Amino acid sequence: MGMVRQADAPLRGLNTFGIDARARVLWRLDSLDDLAQLGEVLRDDAGKGHPRPPLILGGGSNLLIADDPQQPIVQMALRGLRIVEDDGDTVIVEAAAGEAWDPLVRWTLSQGLAGLENLALIPGTVGAAPIQNIGAYGVELRDCFESLDAVDLGSGIARSFTADDCAFGYRDSVFKHVDAAQWLVTSVRLRLSRTADLKLDYGEIRAELSEAHIVAPTPTDVADAVSRIRRRKLPDPTVIGNAGSFFKNPLIEPEQAQAVRAREPELPCWPSGDRVKVSAAWMIERCGFKGMRIGDAGVHARHALVLVNHGHARGSDILALAMQIRSAVEIRFGILLEAEPVVVGAARL
Ligand SMILES: Cc1cc2nc3c(=O)[nH]c(=O)nc-3n(C[C@H](O)[C@H](O)[C@H](O)COP(=O)(O)OP(=O)(O)OC[C@H]3O[C@@H](n4cnc5c(N)ncnc54)[C@H](O)[C@@H]3O)c2cc1C
Repeated sequence: MGMVRQADAPLRGLNTFGIDARARVLWRLDSLDDLAQLGEVLRDDAGKGHPRPPLILGGGSNLLIADDPQQPIVQMALRGLRIVEDDGDTVIVEAAAGEAWDPLVRWTLSQGLAGLENLALIPGTVGAAPIQNIGAYGVELRDCFESLDAVDLGSGIARSFTADDCAFGYRDSVFKHVDAAQWLVTSVRLRLSRTADLKLDYGEIRAELSEAHIVAPTPTDVADAVSRIRRRKLPDPTVIGNAGSFFKNPLIEPEQAQAVRAREPELPCWPSGDRVKVSAAWMIERCGFKGMRIGDAGVHARHALVLVNHGHARGSDILALAMQIRSAVEIRFGILLEAEPVVVGAARL
């Protein structure tokens, strides 16, 4: 069949920030059979002096395109969903990397499989889910993760990764740190169960269920409740461009947390392993950024963590605002914020 190639490709519709950048060249990967050809064209491109490595693009919901990408873009479009193991209770589901995440959650629920209900309505693709170990409402991908398949686009070597190989952390995995290899995730396997073990204690899940008069919730009820809460709370990227939370909640040493709390007693903190997680949203709000707007780059009026594109912001405008926020928080609290989305382009946060 062959891969679809597009030169000077418009990216506005391919990133949820709605940044109007253009790619020099974009390849759409629809079939595993095209992987050999993909390796060849990427090597050829690099041979002509174009920058490597390529940028792998899923749903573009965790990216800030700071300037027109000069490296080739590989758009992940592999599809397929199947059950690969079933012992009557534990079921392993395999999903191709280009499947959309929320429809996968709904498909597993329709098969009577529990485990992904708290992760309903997270935007993006299956293949990107392990990259930052997506999480919401007290559950992370790693809680249901079995293994994944990936191909190194540099060497063409394919291998599987277990959970240990992925080194999952808070919005983190090995894939955010490898420099030598360029792992393209091709499929992900998830370990789900026919017996639900519902996690209802996080956020407003219980309140939402009781509002709907549900006393004995099913996993689908939980997914519905989470989806309703998310629709109410989070700005819809089709209405206003954004990539969800722009900053991670920093993890700091307990001594540092104590010192900061002595000056800022209201700073929300939670224990997290042997460290302390502090609220990035609270610090950003305290620095006066909530609702701020510089041109078309802004901080959402109700969510200090969510940076937004009011219309025609360039990626560099959003990045400049992010830098301003980061330095204000560092000056006031002595804590360095880290961006959650991947910044694409020469500029860095
Ligand atoms: C409104 C909103 C709410 C959100 N809420 C949450 C939330 O609750 N929890 C959460 O964790 N995240 C959340 N996010 C962030 C985002 O949805 C997730 O990070 C998601 O997994 C990104 O998927 P994507 O396909 O859009 O990835 P992209 O943005 O396309 O890519 C993200 C990164 O993954 C890499 N990548 C993508 N696909 C592959 C692949 N197949 N192989 C190798 N690398 C790949 C890309 O190169 C890039 O580095 C939210 C985003 C938005 C816009």
